[in-house]
Amino acid sequence: MCNSKTFSCGPGDGCYDVAVVGAGPAGCLTAAIAARAGLSVLLLEKRRLPRDKICGGLISSRALALLPPGVLPPQGAGSPVTAVRVHGRRGRSYLYRSSELLGMVVRRGHFDFLLSSYASACGAVLVQESPLVHLEMQHQGPAPWQSLYRLHCGGPAPATYHARCVVGADGARSRCARLFGLRRQELLRPAGWGYTKTVEPPPDGAAEAETVHFFTLPHLGGLGWSFPGEGFVNRGVGAPFKPSLLKREYRRLFPETTAAAGAAAWPLPFTGPLLKPARGNLLLVGDAAGLVDPFSGEGVYNALKSALLAGCALKNAFSEKRAAGPLYHRLFRAHFGRGFIPAMAGAALLHARCLLNPAGMPRSIAAIMLNRHWFKRDLGPAILKDHLYCEEGVKTWS
Ligand SMILES: Cc1cc2nc3c(=O)[nH]c(=O)nc-3n(C[C@H](O)[C@H](O)[C@H](O)COP(=O)(O)OP(=O)(O)OC[C@H]3O[C@@H](n4cnc5c(N)ncnc54)[C@H](O)[C@@H]3O)c2cc1C
Repeated sequence: MCNSKTFSCGPGDGCYDVAVVGAGPAGCLTAAIAARAGLSVLLLEKRRLPRDKICGGLISSRALALLPPGVLPPQGAGSPVTAVRVHGRRGRSYLYRSSELLGMVVRRGHFDFLLSSYASACGAVLVQESPLVHLEMQHQGPAPWQSLYRLHCGGPAPATYHARCVVGADGARSRCARLFGLRRQELLRPAGWGYTKTVEPPPDGAAEAETVHFFTLPHLGGLGWSFPGEGFVNRGVGAPFKPSLLKREYRRLFPETTAAAGAAAWPLPFTGPLLKPARGNLLLVGDAAGLVDPFSGEGVYNALKSALLAGCALKNAFSEKRAAGPLYHRLFRAHFGRGFIPAMAGAALLHARCLLNPAGMPRSIAAIMLNRHWFKRDLGPAILKDHLYCEEGVKTWS
């Protein structure tokens, strides 16, 4: 589709309809949807896949519901979760068991690799070890075929590509956000941090199979977790504090695991969605657009949801000869437009409840994982799946 009357170029000349920067969940799904819509898609990833990602690895059912069928194999993608235990003060804990699947604990390296394989299978050209370092506008015009961007990539084999639309899916420290002129700083401030380690499962780990554990911290606005996966446990803390304070909390909660190597902290951009997530034919998705949930630190659900919205905007921009940015912005506002103040106020209320009345929290967390919480008016999956997939003849959503 890239060949146009205005500028002639195609994938053979390193020119694509869409370049997606970053092969995390947001980037892979955006690339897959755009490629399935018949667009030529370049997916750039700065590291070699599969790569590790600092994450708790809990993928909620509401996030799993956004994945097209066949992305995850029926066996071996992760460990099922059907129960939530919240640990309050003075050693008390509260359990909620669900009759439904609440989510899955995965190794993020493996999970993201499956998503990138799906994007490749859909026709996206994946180029690994190719970090975007600079972006230039070559031609400017409202519609995608009237604009052209030049992408300069570093890594072991530096290369230059051209694309009519660019999607920044490069995570919390997004370079795209700054190159697009949509964010001045490296991080959204005030952002929080997550600190996590993957350790061997304890010998009694089987006692509470399929149960994820959350720990209230003695300050407002933080949670600890212990998520059991297949042959590992992911233990971490996330809060709007500095990493040094998080490490202290981690040592307090998990004194037995502090000797293990491999702990790392990474920013959690949970201060509310960007007010402006797009410009011209430049779009930001996932963490790059500030989409981590301010209560739970969950980010994969919103990353996938923003990818569906971006895919939809790209498809419509090319077919209706319109700019992708405003189309995406409109969808983004409708789905994430609560903004900073309500998002943070809601998160503060939930955290306060977690400290004062932890007994009700396991059920609330389960409701969030199933996308049934009263607190969130989420148009979510039902609308998106109809909008994006049914017209493509994929009717097997469950
Ligand atoms: C400690 C911690 C625990 C978390 N736990 C959970 C959890 O249990 N469940 C959950 O749902 N969410 C969790 N999150 C949030 C979740 O990890 C993120 O929201 C999610 O990964 C966002 O996906 P993304 O695709 O936007 O970005 P990412 O997954 O960060 O992917 C970005 C990709 O872009 C690549 N990249 C970066 N720069 C460039 C460049 N210049 N050029 C090319 N490629 C580039 C990176 O290598 C990476 O592959 C956690 C986060 C943290 C920090």
